[in-house]
Amino acid sequence: MSTTIRSELYIGGQWVPPHGQETLTVRSAATEEVIGSVPAAAPADVDAAVAAAKAAFPGWRAWAPERRAAILDRFADEIDERTEEIITAISRQNGMPITVARRLEAGFSSLLLRYYARLVRHQPAAEVRPGLLVSQTSIRRHPIGVIAAIVPWNVPQTLTFTKVAPALAAGCTVVVKPSPETVLDAYLIAEAALAAGVPQGVLSIVPGGRELGAYLVSHPGVDKVAFTGSTEGGRAVAEACARLLRPVSLELGGKSAAIFLDDADLDPDAIGESLFAATLVNNGQVCFLGTRILAPRSRYAEVLGLLEAVVRASPVGDPLDESTLIGPLASARQRDRVQGYIEMGRAEGARVVAGGGRHPGPGWFVQPTIFADVDNSFRIAQEEIFGPVLSVIPYDTDDDAVRIANDTMYGLGGTVWSADTERAASVAARVQTGTIGINGYAPEPTAPFGGIKASGIGREFGPEGLASYQNLQSIYFP
Ligand code: NAD
Repeated sequence: MSTTIRSELYIGGQWVPPHGQETLTVRSAATEEVIGSVPAAAPADVDAAVAAAKAAFPGWRAWAPERRAAILDRFADEIDERTEEIITAISRQNGMPITVARRLEAGFSSLLLRYYARLVRHQPAAEVRPGLLVSQTSIRRHPIGVIAAIVPWNVPQTLTFTKVAPALAAGCTVVVKPSPETVLDAYLIAEAALAAGVPQGVLSIVPGGRELGAYLVSHPGVDKVAFTGSTEGGRAVAEACARLLRPVSLELGGKSAAIFLDDADLDPDAIGESLFAATLVNNGQVCFLGTRILAPRSRYAEVLGLLEAVVRASPVGDPLDESTLIGPLASARQRDRVQGYIEMGRAEGARVVAGGGRHPGPGWFVQPTIFADVDNSFRIAQEEIFGPVLSVIPYDTDDDAVRIANDTMYGLGGTVWSADTERAASVAARVQTGTIGINGYAPEPTAPFGGIKASGIGREFGPEGLASYQNLQSIYFP
């Protein structure tokens, strides 16, 4: 297997030597072998990246939207050119099955770039509103400035572009801090930006861990922070931003409910694929997955049978193999954490009906696991596990299902399964969550995505995502 060694950083639109000596080593999630290393950015590298972003901002914001949009389109083309390289890097780093990476990663990133290019092309420069006390107000949108974008390792490309695409379209400049586990694909973003002609200083990438992230978040030159990661990390970032009165958007953890109504189709041939995508995709390492399965007591055994069939039909193995549906977890730490939760579930009195063990190594594999007889008060039902572990909770009435679904500190995703989509939609509307799907779940780039409660603040995607990188200014006319 090839190894990727990088010795420079992409800062201010150029490859530059790092200020520090430290490197970040990346291992294959499937084999545990070293697959690459990159320099760890030092605080002085962050200073340089922020200074370059600040210097580039007046020029970039002054470009006509059409000109910025053309750069975004070229950036999308350059990402598409690198699709195979990008998805291979991701699969090797974090264990995402390659077929999933093809769908969730490279293609999604270029789609976001083209979508925001189109939106900004058509956004009027100002909205004029007739007034009550003045003749009229002209409402203008201005780019916020320098954005610090902090990204987790689970879906590293798309979660970078949920920030970079609308921020660049709005006229902001961006410093991205990827996770240490997934830095190799970030270099491909840099190469694509350079090839697309993204002007100097508009985009920089500073690989590093939490401490470097904290340094960037509090940097005096940053105007807004866009964070995706754990609720714990989000709290720390929010506290720092509160002190600085710095705008922040937070996309955090989840523990969503998949509610099967009593008329749902439970045939694995009919819904198996959609159910997998909504509960287990990316080895259970997606924030919006419905990992609490709410099953009507009258059909509890049937729901368990359905889930067992879905797990049986999901080959576990090498993420680079096109037939694999479940790969290894992203790190040894993550594997140990998930295994700890499986032990905890047993100790809490839940019954293992599938999996429950470690998959033979090497690699950070965990068997997809289904727990029956789970009470919603169990820790395995309340805490985000972030692995292929499902808890099946019985309920009696629709009201009961909604009550259990809402009995969580989170509010990010969810699904309702029913033969009657109107009935499902009326149950969905009563679930306290930022997004929810009917008979399946797929985040839609044109619609706002984000959480409530401990799942976050703010929205990405849609025009709302663009607006989150713009300040509003009202100009009153006498
Ligand atoms: P994490 O919070 O440990 O790290 C996320 C990123 O933030 C990393 O780049 C990390 O270095 C950085 N970071 C952590 N603490 C920081 C701090 N105090 N200041 C600045 N930067 C800091 O999360 P993770 O384990 O990498 O990712 C998994 C988590 O992300 C899960 O909880 C998952 O639900 C969440 N997530 C949420 C969404 C969403 O859209 N809501 C999407 C994907 C993942």
